[in-house]
Amino acid sequence: MSQNKWQQLEEKLFLRTFNRIPLTLVRGRGARVWDDSGKEYLDFVGGWAVNCLGHCPPVVAEALEKQARTLIQVSNQFYTIPQIELAQVLVQNSCLDRVFLCNSGTEANEGAVKLARRYGKLYLNGAYEVITTENSFHGRTMAMTAATGQSKFQEPYTPLPGGFVSVKYDDAEAIRKATTEQTCAVMLEPIQGEGGVNVPHETYLEEVAQWCHEKGILFILDEIQTGVGRTGSLFAYEKCRVEPDIMTLAKGLASGVPIGAFLSKEKYSLFSAGEHGSTFGGNPLTCAAAHATMRYIIDNDIPDQADRVGKYFLDKLGRLQRQFGVIAEVRGRGLLLAMEFSKDIAQQVVMACVNKGLLLNRPKPNIIRFMPPLIITERDIDEAIDILEQVLIEISEEE
Ligand SMILES: *Cc1c(COP(=O)(O)O)cnc(C)c1O
Repeated sequence: MSQNKWQQLEEKLFLRTFNRIPLTLVRGRGARVWDDSGKEYLDFVGGWAVNCLGHCPPVVAEALEKQARTLIQVSNQFYTIPQIELAQVLVQNSCLDRVFLCNSGTEANEGAVKLARRYGKLYLNGAYEVITTENSFHGRTMAMTAATGQSKFQEPYTPLPGGFVSVKYDDAEAIRKATTEQTCAVMLEPIQGEGGVNVPHETYLEEVAQWCHEKGILFILDEIQTGVGRTGSLFAYEKCRVEPDIMTLAKGLASGVPIGAFLSKEKYSLFSAGEHGSTFGGNPLTCAAAHATMRYIIDNDIPDQADRVGKYFLDKLGRLQRQFGVIAEVRGRGLLLAMEFSKDIAQQVVMACVNKGLLLNRPKPNIIRFMPPLIITERDIDEAIDILEQVLIEISEEE
């Protein structure tokens, strides 16, 4: 994989934020992508849990093409139909009642926190603090960097905006202890994604939700990565027997067209006109893609499929774990899965898999994460497992 002209140009042109794998991808279909030399790869990164229906799903491509010829953008000064249709699908299929549409996950979380602050100002004597968790990931703006409980994201930018308190994940008592007069909300991922696919114990979310309701503070779920079928139900909260007061979405929602959304219960519909807004949020083109995505996912029971295929995948990963001592744990739910090694070999594994035609993600030096399209088949999984097995054999022989 020698550096081609695109990679040389990229190095000159961009701020150095991404550690990219030296592959220039030019085309995708289903669970496969192709690079500029024509080589095919099985994509288990899925645009970071975005390509839930695979690459270029025909229903979404058609919706985009039709909408692009009809109306791309006006402004939220006017009513447009695709955003209303999308909001209807979201409300009818969740426990939430009202929607705000924006352009990314970070922005959805920013909006959710702004709504929690409105609640604090109106009902909790100006309480403004939000409790978040260690190892979480909530985004990259200054406020969401402060909300994200990982020092590697925070240290380059201190001092960060205030108003966030970080406590241990999967520890409801830590949240109870950190709650003060200043607390207006708790914000959590149902399963921590970027933090390494950390699945909390079964009653954690219930305990936290109950505490929030007792204290009259908001329970916010960041379902940006876990939602839209990824974890085997349309939203992860469904499997955890809780209902969030506010939920944020993004990643898979529009099959790769940039979008974010936050939804709230009716009683937290606390913004008045002008208190929040967006130029592109709710844009007809984006909403047509999201509406087509959501309809397809719901009408074809894609969350069920992700659940079933995810169990098959996790079982196969478990077999690899029994075969290779270097695998410390395999975990996850639906098609958000991870393999943790007892050594920092994740990068080596990722690069060796890339060479053999399998794309993987490495959130930590000892963890690889699997976020394939939700439409992958058991055959695709067998192919990925075969490649992983070969790579692990090679690595264990080197030692
Ligand atoms: C990806 C992600 C975000 C940030 O979303 P962007 O679209 O990159 O801004 C926030 N929270 C979670 C849980 C995520 O996985």
